[in-house]
Order: sequence, then structure tokens, then C-alpha cells
Amino acid sequence: MREIILVANWKMYKTISEGLEFIECLKQKIKGKPKVIICSPFTALSNIKEALKDNGLELGAQNLFYESEGAFTGEISPVMLKDAGAKYVIIGHSERRCIFHETNDFINKKVIAAIENNIRPIFCVGEKIEDRRSDLTEMIIRKQILEGLENINKDNLENIIIAYEPVWAIGTGLNAKPEEASEVHRFIRNTLNETYNNKIGENITILYGGSIKEDNIEGLGKMEEIDGGLVGGASLNCNVFSSIWSKLKTSKSI
Ligand code: PEP
Repeated sequence: MREIILVANWKMYKTISEGLEFIECLKQKIKGKPKVIICSPFTALSNIKEALKDNGLELGAQNLFYESEGAFTGEISPVMLKDAGAKYVIIGHSERRCIFHETNDFINKKVIAAIENNIRPIFCVGEKIEDRRSDLTEMIIRKQILEGLENINKDNLENIIIAYEPVWAIGTGLNAKPEEASEVHRFIRNTLNETYNNKIGENITILYGGSIKEDNIEGLGKMEEIDGGLVGGASLNCNVFSSIWSKLKTSKSI
């Protein structure tokens, strides 16, 4: 069953007090569907969890390490994320792939660790501009999906949210056209259908991410293949983010 979801990825922005101020504002502006997941920095997770109590907003983290504990200075385990209240975690974001050189294999270990700890991965895939120009988009996305989701069985796959985030659209102001994004979402579903040998791809929530703004969410949201959005820069301002949420709601008629 596909859910319509809007994720806020605050990246490395917002202190605890700034995060709490945002949540107080958002609580006044949104209620019900679509579901909202706030992915805050590690430092604010517990405080945001408290503030989100009983209002239907959900909490996610932006990263994790795959071991449960140990001598891994600076890392945060899935056990720690759960303890802080996170139910979701972004894995495979292009900033982690590009800046921190995370490979598909490394990302796969994180996806498995999240699932083993009952944290739902928000698994990101996306091509670079040179891949798109060389007509390699499908090849790259297929590789990210097959390697990043290796050894994930059908039941666990249904707990994963996929985000298609073309690297050239993240933080650039250049969003993919709704038809372009939709085509890749269809390709992802077909890849999952072929790999798992059934129609599972039709049930997976696939979000679009990359320069979502108030003026482009309706066009994206109208596409049947697009089940919502992962919002970076435009999730930092409560008024802007709640307006994106309202427009997504309208475009999906929910
Ligand atoms: C993101 O951080 O995943 C993202 C899509 O960022 P932005 O909306 O700023 O492009």
C-alpha cells in the first residue's frame, strides 16, 4: 500500500531551539495526511521527539553507522537512533555518497542494520548530470538499487521508502520535470518487479527529491508515479514547508 509522504531533510541546519521553534509553528499549520517525517540533526532528535508527541508528525535521522556499538569514534548506531526516538533514517543521500564517498556496498550494510533495528530506511538513489547526459541514468539507478538493496527480502522491502533524487537537482534550484521524474520512478518500480519476480514495485512508496519548492510541488504531485517529496532547503522555513505540504495534499486530493 503506497503512502503519500513529505520528508523534511534539515541537513546540517538547526540548533535544538531552532528545531523546536519550527515544530511549534508546523503543529499549528498541518494536520492529517500527507504524512510528514522530520529528519533532524542527531543533536536535536530527542528534543524534537518530545515536541512531536501525539500530533502525527514522525521523526527520522539523516544517517547511521551499521554496527550496534563499538570503537567507532563519531558514529551513531541504529540502537542509539531508536533510543532517541527515530523511526526513519535517510540512507544513501547523494551528499553522503559524494562528499563522504559512501559506496553501494557500504550503504547496503546501513540499510540492513536499519531494518534489523526496526527503523525504516529512506533509501536515496540518483544520477549525476554527466550520467544523464551520457544516457546512463537507468544503468546507474539500477546498480544503486540492486547493490544497495542486496539481501533485502520482499517483506523487508515493503518497509523501505525510496527517494529518487537526481544529484543535479539537489540544492541547485533545478528540479527534474514531473515527466522526467515520473519516468525514473516507473523504471525503479519495474526494476523491483523484475528483481523480486512479482508486482512489489507497485506497492513501494517512491518520493521525488531535488529543489522542491512551492511553485513546483503541484506539478510533481499530480504525477501518479510520484508519492510525495523529500525536501531539503525548502524544509527549513515553516511557512514554506507547510505551504508545500498543502499543495501536495491538493495535488493528491487527500
Ligand atoms: C535533499 O536534501 O535531499 C534535497 C532534495 O535538497 P533540496 O531540496 O535543497 O534540493
